[in-house]
Amino acid sequence: MSFDTLGLSPTIIANLQRQNYQKPTPIQEQAIPAVLSGQDVMAAAQTGTGKTAGFTLPILERLAKGERVKSNHIRALILTPTRELAAQVGDSVQTYSEGLSLSSAVVFGGVKINPQMMRLRKGVDILVATPGRLLDLHQQNAVKFSQVEVLVLDEADRMLDMGFIRDINKILDLLPKKRQNLLFSATFSEDIKALAKKLVRNPVEISVNPANATAVTVEQWVYPTDKNKKPKLLSYLIGHHNWQQVLIFCKTKHGANRLTRHLEADGISALAIHGNKSQGARTKALAQFKEGKIRALVATDIAARGLDIDQLPQVVNFELPHVAEDYVHRIGRTGRAGSTGQAISLVCADEFKLLVAIERLSQKLIPRQEIEGFEASNPVPKSHDVRPFKAKKPKKPKTPKVEHQDGQRSGEVAQGHKPPAKKRPTRSDNPYAKNTSNRRRGKPTGGNRGKPIGKSLNK
Ligand code: ADP
Ligand code: MG
Repeated sequence: MSFDTLGLSPTIIANLQRQNYQKPTPIQEQAIPAVLSGQDVMAAAQTGTGKTAGFTLPILERLAKGERVKSNHIRALILTPTRELAAQVGDSVQTYSEGLSLSSAVVFGGVKINPQMMRLRKGVDILVATPGRLLDLHQQNAVKFSQVEVLVLDEADRMLDMGFIRDINKILDLLPKKRQNLLFSATFSEDIKALAKKLVRNPVEISVNPANATAVTVEQWVYPTDKNKKPKLLSYLIGHHNWQQVLIFCKTKHGANRLTRHLEADGISALAIHGNKSQGARTKALAQFKEGKIRALVATDIAARGLDIDQLPQVVNFELPHVAEDYVHRIGRTGRAGSTGQAISLVCADEFKLLVAIERLSQKLIPRQEIEGFEASNPVPKSHDVRPFKAKKPKKPKTPKVEHQDGQRSGEVAQGHKPPAKKRPTRSDNPYAKNTSNRRRGKPTGGNRGKPIGKSLNK
């Protein structure tokens, strides 16, 4: 399959060639024709699978044909959860739309609103926005929605996690009733499905990955150690392996700052990126990291979500996330679009439960390594059980008595009293492979997502 057969115009295809995109990724293969057809689309695919182009390319194609945008109006609205992501999607829109006479702009909070108002004055075809700033701009009459033809919710799962649902609802109320709706997400959680009910009409549903499966091109390791040994162990690993570009996750802003100082003291150039940093500082840190000017970027989950850093070889979980799904998102930063990466986690005894949750979610035991001198004196027990917390519910309750592929009956809770399923459905080695088994865990810990963490483990 090549881009030519998907119904895109030569200008766009030339832009893709310039980016060295040889062929569409599976999500693009399915999403592009669906969006081109004008239908609503609900698409889930893991991080790094090319969702941005999946919705942007067909939108460009459609907009190129329509009528011109009026002043202060917009024709396509792409909502993203974070500023960094908005900037990144905005960059992609620019790259993909070169040579087309379409305009685009990016607006987000944390920077002056005036230049954004000026930018909107002439109208822009494609606006990439975070919800809060968009509402501010609308309130000040800087942006009008009556010409909107397409709405995209990008990283929709994260938007909900971050508590944007009210803003999203407000925006939905302001948009014209007749429009195309596209919902892109890394997962189809129950929350996403509830949102979709309000948003999309008879959507084309696309799902190209087993839910929550960690990318198979990412090698994963756990280093059991003690909490107080972690900073030194990290410096050792970076130095020993001579890692030049490593993204490190901490759970708290303070923890990230502290670790950054430690690395700097050990001669490893590092910057922190988190919500307490100004927008300028975050953008600068990211740019320096991408350009290879600093070796380590120390991030919190919210700051890092969805960032596309090309072929990042190394991700380190300095602390495990509170929410197992975040692990999947974190390590989604490596091995993007087919390249391999390594994700390692420094795990101390306190974090055992979090590790079990991660191994259950991703349905595999992560291999362990110990480094002499950094062994855990408080042992981190081995988990033996990767059964999911909850049995899969059937999509349509047509055949409720029939056993599912994974040996569990519908509606029963797997935890505790069920014998382990004999054989898990094997996952294809291709991270893009279609898989309809879509096991889901429900959302046992959802309430905590996106909120500042730091109560328990980092003290
Ligand atoms: P997602 O939104 O699914 O996390 P992105 O849209 O950010 O993924 O894309 C991830 C990376 O893959 C980006 O660097 C992008 O340039 C690259 N990419 C996207 N589509 C292709 C393609 N067809 N061929 C090669 N690289 C691609
Ligand atoms: Mg994305």
